[in-house]
Amino acid sequence: MAYSYDDQNIFAKIIRGEIPNDTVAETEHSLAFNDIRPQAPVHVLVVPKGRYVCHDHFAAEASDAEVLDFMRLTARVVAEQGLADGGYRTISNAGQAGVQEVPHYHLHILGGRPLGRMLQPG
Ligand code: AMP
Repeated sequence: MAYSYDDQNIFAKIIRGEIPNDTVAETEHSLAFNDIRPQAPVHVLVVPKGRYVCHDHFAAEASDAEVLDFMRLTARVVAEQGLADGGYRTISNAGQAGVQEVPHYHLHILGGRPLGRMLQPG
């Protein structure tokens, strides 16, 4: 699969520091920031700083260091946001069927209230 990355997507601009974000945590290879339209009391987005379009792109092509850094940061966000005990949900939308709005890989971390069933029927 050849992935085409759009350098003008909004998360690329956030990573380059061209537009502001509400940073939660940052590491060498990854950034975590609050979603601008939160759908739960905690709604954090974790993104790799590298040019990856979606989950399968990142999982297939990122370096070991990038993958490890990303995963460890997700654990740190869960812990620091106080979600480990009460539970939470991670979501990564990909492509058209997944209704991905921003074409830079990101993991939503949602919690702080009961989140209901994973998907609506239909
Ligand atoms: P997705 O449908 O998975 O691509 O979701 C993209 C998410 O990015 C949505 O939840 C938006 O609210 C969020 N979003 C869009 N622009 C920004 C921004 N400038 N800062 C933070 N979150 C954003």
